[in-house]
Amino acid sequence: MTDRAALFSDLMNDLRLPTAPVSWIDGAPRTGAGEDIELVDPFIDAPFTQYRDAGADLTAEAVEAAKAAQIGWWHGRSHHDRGQIMQAISGTILNHSEHLSTLEALTAGKPIRDTRAEVAKVAEMFAYYAGWADKVHGETIPAPSGHLVYTLREPHGVVFQITPWNAPIFTAGWQIAPAIAAGNGVVIKPSELTPITTAALVALAEDAGLPKGLVNVLAGLGPTVGETAIEHSGVAKVVFVGSPATGRRVAASAGAALKGVVLELGGKSANIVFEDADSSAAVKGAQAAIFAGAGQSCVAGSRLLVQRSIADAFRDRVAEGMAKLRLGDPLDDATEIGPVGNRAQAARIAAALASAEGDGATRFAPSVPGKGLFVPPTILDGLPPTAPAAEDEIFGPVVTLLRFDDEAEAIEIANRSEYGLAGAVWTSNVGCAHRVAASVRAGTFWINSYKTIHVSVPFGGSGASGFGRSSGTDGLAEYSRPKAVWLDASDLSQTAFGYDG
Ligand code: NAD
Repeated sequence: MTDRAALFSDLMNDLRLPTAPVSWIDGAPRTGAGEDIELVDPFIDAPFTQYRDAGADLTAEAVEAAKAAQIGWWHGRSHHDRGQIMQAISGTILNHSEHLSTLEALTAGKPIRDTRAEVAKVAEMFAYYAGWADKVHGETIPAPSGHLVYTLREPHGVVFQITPWNAPIFTAGWQIAPAIAAGNGVVIKPSELTPITTAALVALAEDAGLPKGLVNVLAGLGPTVGETAIEHSGVAKVVFVGSPATGRRVAASAGAALKGVVLELGGKSANIVFEDADSSAAVKGAQAAIFAGAGQSCVAGSRLLVQRSIADAFRDRVAEGMAKLRLGDPLDDATEIGPVGNRAQAARIAAALASAEGDGATRFAPSVPGKGLFVPPTILDGLPPTAPAAEDEIFGPVVTLLRFDDEAEAIEIANRSEYGLAGAVWTSNVGCAHRVAASVRAGTFWINSYKTIHVSVPFGGSGASGFGRSSGTDGLAEYSRPKAVWLDASDLSQTAFGYDG
């Protein structure tokens, strides 16, 4: 049995971080003066450390540090240099991938096989956007006048990023990399429940050449740190990843301060299986869609829509497969499903299951290890489509089975949701696949697969899933704005342009 306390302390020492999580401001660890926040190891459901909320003073310092460093980053470094530094950061992340993956598994309760993949993706994000750092440029526009018109792409200045607890290091890298590639300074507030790996990432990035102060991490709460930073006059734009309820508050505060905002929110994605699908692939896909990460994924396939003719047999095969999934210690290489991330989330899932049973659902679920915040992978069958468990994001390893008769009904049920984040269809009929992909409201849609994402491909939602885009060039565009420059060329002779025919 791993000595978890010793492992935690060794990892933090190796990464040269204090064992009480801290904010990271202007290249140094800083302790807040706010209320104590306790961190719980979800595998043993016991506290392992605590820290103090960053509060308003450190928030102001972080914004000022980002502002000062951003000016030097944007005006003092060539685009090429910025790309080189980001490439070096990618290498450093890879060199420390085992430390970062283990720390994430230990503190966020995610299986290490998942955190290894996520850390590799973070390295890829920095490498990908390193390539874009010297390709953020404007265009010339043949406006109908005697002007020479061109655009410059300018960074916003300091962007404030807020991230959730379900994928802390992944969401941090996901937003920091495009922000700095476009020339911004960053203040990032990870979830108060999982602040550690974001600080570790930034500390390592500074070892690789990131200017101190360009990216600052605030360990603390939404109301004290989040609201304060959104309102700070030095913050130009807000990027939020989290729940729709908090997203509404963040958007309202940003709106009141006239600041742009990107919202990456939750989902209740439809995973649609037709009777002509490759059933083995679809069964595996349905399991991966909802049970990976204990269902704590914004794109989880939490509504399983199956054509009525195969629904019972399909449900039984998914149930058979899920009973074999290995639940266990996140630090164990063999573990496929870990505990849920925190006590509040475990309580929310328990309440959703109780409500589903009250609404008549039959529950198919194996037993779970006796300790820690474990929830068994669960299929809910027999729910009316309007029951809360069929409509609301549960954010746990719980899938609602819904039946449909034909393509039109599948699309109608899929779109009967306030969310618009992701979805999938499983069928061997190419025409049906494309019609369904075109008709379901979603920012990401898979055909005969689920959950593949890549930093080069735009990601985001509509409706209660938010607005704006992350990843790819669309994500990069959120971090800069065009400035149009008009040069009156009417009094310039052709010779003045150095060209006389
Ligand atoms: P949450 O909304 O409770 O918290 C998210 C972040 O907001 C945390 O850092 C929290 O401290 C902060 N926050 C809370 N109140 C705030 C306030 N008043 N002002 C500013 N910040 C505030 O979400 P969560 O429980 O941490 O994460 C789960 C949710 O995130 C799910 O809905 C999930 O679908 C969503 N999510 C979405 C994506 C995506 O890319 N679309 C990715 C991961 C998670």
